[in-house]
Amino acid sequence: MTPARQQYLELKAKHPDALLWFRMGDFYEMFDDDARAAAAALHITLTSRPFGRDGRVPMAGVPYHAANSYLARLLRQGFRVAICEQMSPAGKGLVERAITRVVSPGTVAEPALLPPRENCYLAALCPGPTGYGIAYVDVTTGEFAATEITDGDPTLARAAAEHDLARIAPRECLVPGDERRATSGERNADADDDVSLAARRSPLAASPTIPGHTTPYEARHFALVAATETLHAHFGVVNLEAYGCAGCPLAVRAAGAIVRYLTETNAMLLPLLAGLRTYHAGGTMHLDAATRRNLELTGAGRSGASGGSLLQTLDGTKTAMGGRLLRRMLAQPLTDRAAIEARLDGTEAFATRTALRLGVLALLAEVGDMERLTARARQEAATPRELLALRDALLAVPKLATLLKEPEDAALDGLAARLDPCSGVATLLTRAVLVPEAREDVRRIRPGYDTDFDALVYTATHARETIAAMEAAERERTGIKSLKIKYNSVFGYGIEVSNANRGKVPGDYRRTQTLTHAERYVTPALKEWEAAVLHAEERIAAREDELYRGVLREVGAVAPVLLGTARTVAAVDVHAALADRAVQGRYVRPTLTDGTALRIEAGRHPTVEAALAAAGESFVANDTDLGGDAPGGTRLLLLTGPNMAGKSTYLRQVALVVLLAQVGAFVPADRAEIGIVDRIFTRIGAQDDLAAGASTFLVEMMETAHILRHATDRSLVVLDEVGRGTGTEDGIAIAQAVAEDLAGRVGARTLFATHYHRLTETVGTLPGVAVARAAVAEPENDDGTGAITFLHRIQPGAAGKSYGLHVAAIAGLPEGVVARARALFDTSEEVDRQDTRNREEIGKVRELRVWRGDDDAFHAAYRSEGVHTRHAALLDEIATLDLARMTPLDALIALDRLQRDARDARDAAPQRATSNPQPPDTNPSQHAARGTQFHPREGRR
Ligand code: ADP
Ligand code: MG
Repeated sequence: MTPARQQYLELKAKHPDALLWFRMGDFYEMFDDDARAAAAALHITLTSRPFGRDGRVPMAGVPYHAANSYLARLLRQGFRVAICEQMSPAGKGLVERAITRVVSPGTVAEPALLPPRENCYLAALCPGPTGYGIAYVDVTTGEFAATEITDGDPTLARAAAEHDLARIAPRECLVPGDERRATSGERNADADDDVSLAARRSPLAASPTIPGHTTPYEARHFALVAATETLHAHFGVVNLEAYGCAGCPLAVRAAGAIVRYLTETNAMLLPLLAGLRTYHAGGTMHLDAATRRNLELTGAGRSGASGGSLLQTLDGTKTAMGGRLLRRMLAQPLTDRAAIEARLDGTEAFATRTALRLGVLALLAEVGDMERLTARARQEAATPRELLALRDALLAVPKLATLLKEPEDAALDGLAARLDPCSGVATLLTRAVLVPEAREDVRRIRPGYDTDFDALVYTATHARETIAAMEAAERERTGIKSLKIKYNSVFGYGIEVSNANRGKVPGDYRRTQTLTHAERYVTPALKEWEAAVLHAEERIAAREDELYRGVLREVGAVAPVLLGTARTVAAVDVHAALADRAVQGRYVRPTLTDGTALRIEAGRHPTVEAALAAAGESFVANDTDLGGDAPGGTRLLLLTGPNMAGKSTYLRQVALVVLLAQVGAFVPADRAEIGIVDRIFTRIGAQDDLAAGASTFLVEMMETAHILRHATDRSLVVLDEVGRGTGTEDGIAIAQAVAEDLAGRVGARTLFATHYHRLTETVGTLPGVAVARAAVAEPENDDGTGAITFLHRIQPGAAGKSYGLHVAAIAGLPEGVVARARALFDTSEEVDRQDTRNREEIGKVRELRVWRGDDDAFHAAYRSEGVHTRHAALLDEIATLDLARMTPLDALIALDRLQRDARDARDAAPQRATSNPQPPDTNPSQHAARGTQFHPREGRR
């Protein structure tokens, strides 16, 4: 075994659960299984390398200069990467190597690898006999918090832990466990979905559902004694009283495990964690993962993309920090009235002052990400450019404070008081830091900052000038007009004389290099000045390093103050941005009460309204009146109406108005009085969930069961088409029983949409239940052929009849069929109960037939699953090319590789042509098949 192989195996043994990036010159190389896994995940070439008598081992490498983009792709696929650098210069013998850091999805600190407007949390979950401890940290902002969730009832504790994890949405979550994970990307196939399919299928699974990547971490680091010691050592304290977690052993265990994990993966991240905040879930609204998804808070649709989400509609923040804060706020509505009012005061202060609002927003547009920039400085990783961006942000702070202080508003003054401009830091950065303007500029320290440094720079410059002057002197002395002094990184300075003039070379010239047309020489004087230059450069580099580090340390030392200011700037940003949206969208400040009334006048759905507005259409506003203590107040609103009439929109709109109010934001309505809600529950129609591929009815019943078990008389419950996932009769029965339970025993404010009209006769007559309908304009003629118009207006009273026949007619069912249906409708009451369930089933059967009939395409699609993955990998690779940092040659090399990969993928595609004599380009069916090969999922839908 070669020494290098031995060295590799030793390092690898320490990190069996990570890919080891072994630095060899300009590449990070991976070997053995790591190489295979990375080659597949990154779609890079798998080669091999001889290692002494071991023979060849598989190898794959990524170039050092493009490491970040490869790293990002591996992290997205759930890998961890241990980065091993060369610690001694390459030369004779074995190069010293050491693992400098381990990067995992939750411990990424490079801004280039992170979405700017999202926090990147690493969490730890510590289950205990009495409940759960949860801790989380954002290593790019220093936020570090922990909580302990205990409850007499283990199911409740588990649910509460799940809610908290759903709110945090960590990238990576540590759990106690010693199992070593295989280095495969597969394990996190579900990671994109915050409720993994497996967990949704088995509601009784003992451990909470964890969003993001789960990392089992040695259980001993979760032990109370070990964790306490870790935290003591980290904070330099003897007890944890100051952090509020002294009496919360589970919180301590989770927090200790996180610190320990960071110590092992990348200790440079630790200094940023200056404090730990212990929080208690009290004062906040529980939102389960399904409700977050259903209400499309931060991501719309199943893809989780943020387009069309509530966040996207509201987010007019100008800074990345503000964007992150707003996202956190939407994820965590409050239940404490005073806290909500305080936020509303802040927003109102901006909503009523146009000049202030616009002035602040314009100023903030110039402010960078102070929070992450500070973190970079604190981790001694900030570049000169980053430091000057931090300086520019700091220079804006006093201007911001002046703007805020002007109007004499308590809320604004409170914000201004928390803005510390750290002018010392700004001055230091201005004096000390130099941003290289061109590639060849190497200095990071500004002239005039340090006299020693300036003297060294002067010495070097002087020596260079002396050498330059030598050229003229030597020409004079030798009479060789073409003589030149040149610099070469291997041989240093040399006097170049063309071969024609060789005869004129003086005796004190010593030859160092022979070129094709010339020779190079040195003289003792040149050697001396060369040594002077090199010596000065060495000292310049050392001194500059020392000075630059000093600057980073000075900035790092005031990091807590800078972070405090950054967070206040973020709050100002959010208030001003929300106020701006409120003014533009005619939102109002809600009135919050401790009662149970929920009265909304002319409420609107924020995202649907925005989408309609973009299309030049207007949204129909609707009122809501639920709850209240007066006798006869409505607890449950039973909403009926045909498909597409606006039921679901109305339900979500009410939930969103309540949610926004409790976030402390203005709401899309003319007036809103909201008795504070402890939780919002939603269960949205099964048909919208078909894409999930789970047994939708089971999921539906699980979610409904969860609601019935957890809702209180202070909750808001939104049920859309419950019971729809099963046959009509039992569906109606289930819907009725659920509605009765909610209106009676639970007493939650409930909105219940259904198009089982029969429910209006049963449920509709219960006390506390009101019936409403999503109105449609009657078709002009009676035979069911006229068009119905959706008014999107919610009116009291039950829908008179089913409009199924009208819908069938306008959908283009043949006239005979419609007539026959009418006849049946007239003779049988059963038809009145028909619902779209039947139509859906017909639709499904037809879909299946399409696939059966097109057997070949179907199988091609399956066979080409591998092609699909390669296709995705290719796209991924193109998407992550770091063009800004590539040289033209790199780009060409990359293009060449991409083309080869693309050809491979093409050639590997199943060829129907092999069983088909026609040449491929004259065979249209093959083109059709190829079209589906790359999109098997879409094709099957
Ligand atoms: P349902 O649940 O009754 O089938 P939806 O709530 O899904 O109906 O609404 C169908 C469509 O009607 C929506 O996509 C939206 O474009 C439109 N819509 C719903 N409510 C309104 C409204 N209040 N004003 C304007 N358009 C609306
Ligand atoms: Mg609907």
